[in-house]
Amino acid sequence: MNEIKTKKEKLKILIVASEVVPFAKTGGLADVAGALPKALKKLGHDVRVVLPKYKCISDEKFNIIDTGKRVVVDIALVKHIGVIKQSFFPETDIPVYFIDNDEFFNRDELYRTPYGEYWDNAERFIFFSRSVIEMLKEIDFIPDIIHCNDWHTGLIPVYLKTIYKNIGDNIATVYSIHNIAYQGYTDKEKLSHAGLPWDLWTIDKLEFYGGINFMKGGIVFSDIINTVSESYKRETETPEFGYNLDGVLRSRNGDYFGVLNGVDYEIWNPATDKYIDVNYDIKTIHLKNEMKKILLQEIGLKYYENVPLLSMISRLDAQKGIDFIVSIMDEMLKMNLQFVILGTGDKWYHDILYDFKNKYPEKFSVHFKFDNILAHKIYAGADIFIMPSYFEPCGLGQLIALKYGTVPIVRAIGGLKDTVKQFNFKTKQGNGFLFYGNSPNDLLQVIRIAVDTYKNKSVWNKLIENGMKENFSWEHSAQEYVKLYYKAIEKHKNKNVC
Ligand code: ADP
Repeated sequence: MNEIKTKKEKLKILIVASEVVPFAKTGGLADVAGALPKALKKLGHDVRVVLPKYKCISDEKFNIIDTGKRVVVDIALVKHIGVIKQSFFPETDIPVYFIDNDEFFNRDELYRTPYGEYWDNAERFIFFSRSVIEMLKEIDFIPDIIHCNDWHTGLIPVYLKTIYKNIGDNIATVYSIHNIAYQGYTDKEKLSHAGLPWDLWTIDKLEFYGGINFMKGGIVFSDIINTVSESYKRETETPEFGYNLDGVLRSRNGDYFGVLNGVDYEIWNPATDKYIDVNYDIKTIHLKNEMKKILLQEIGLKYYENVPLLSMISRLDAQKGIDFIVSIMDEMLKMNLQFVILGTGDKWYHDILYDFKNKYPEKFSVHFKFDNILAHKIYAGADIFIMPSYFEPCGLGQLIALKYGTVPIVRAIGGLKDTVKQFNFKTKQGNGFLFYGNSPNDLLQVIRIAVDTYKNKSVWNKLIENGMKENFSWEHSAQEYVKLYYKAIEKHKNKNVC
């Protein structure tokens, strides 16, 4: 093990993620993996990032070059070659590596077709994980810390403590859970495809209900584990939200932490946002209404004075509470409001929301696509942002909405509960509205309260201001991650001594 770094020393950190803004994104993980490196760099650390080279990542747009280095990974006796490409985060000197392999990554989507997950996702991320470790020798960079994220990279800590122990002895690992519902559960034969020994197929290691579980590997083998809010950390340790990994997490309780995500305010800031038509800040909030008019025109709705525009930008997935929305839609659209949804996901939700669009063409607008620019415009132009999630590890939508003066209505769960504070009509404190129950009616009631409050302009402006004044920048969260990195190094060193 390298000499343990003192807390003032610069760390060498490799962040490994399956998606990273601005290169590839399907959800919040990409936002985190895109913003955290920049914040760590500002704190003086040597940080680098690696992700797969998907089809959607353009060499030309991002000035990606072939380093000329190659790695070879065996999967089920077949040799696969990984081409190591490199670029930098735009306008920075933070290196970004890409593992390129046509067979695994040159596909239309990151993880799935419209009909379901790619059949070989386990092989794709076994390949990626081993390639990342093989890459370290090639690029001559042995980090102090490898920071792994979600199931796709769960095998990296396993490799580093087993068949790559010679390299792993020098590297501590932090494993971040962004969503425990996606675990990388697969059949046990994949263990040998991964080149891992069968003695790992035990209940205290990778075995999971007769198969293997990549995320469990990350939890068991990493030095330190975290998830993305304090509340979600506690929730994942319970059977209701732990998705059968709650026991494993409880067994590592002393090494498991909650670190709230931040927002990249270089990207998400209504004063400087290059995707919105009218920029505004806390002193020029009245301009938000101009943005609203332009947005309404773009999404095919008419502008009416004093009618609030409610919004959702979300994966259309049961996790996000879309069932709540569907069940209250008729009642909700009887109110004096308009509603826009931007999202993609389950076909069932597409069909039913499409029917509502036909039924209420003047009040409801829905867009079934992933569209970053439209997302920026909705955050800026809408009055209210709804997130009724069944569970929510951190949630970025509500944090972005706050910055744009778009008042959040959220379910009091996970990271939503840690970031949205109930508005108090007496003290005028708070930044949004929460509902606590498990019934769609609870959501409907809070929407009624919000729509009523909207009519009182001075109260509403206070709510907007409270939200825009919040600071969820990455600066603080990055410092929390650095603390975890030092903890991981300490722990790793002690383990090696034993
Ligand atoms: P999750 O990671 O569970 O999907 P988060 O709230 O943490 O949820 O992050 C979602 C991110 O993806 C946010 O930045 C949100 O704006 C963005 N997003 C979700 N759906 C879309 C979409 N259809 N088009 C553009 N951006 C989207």
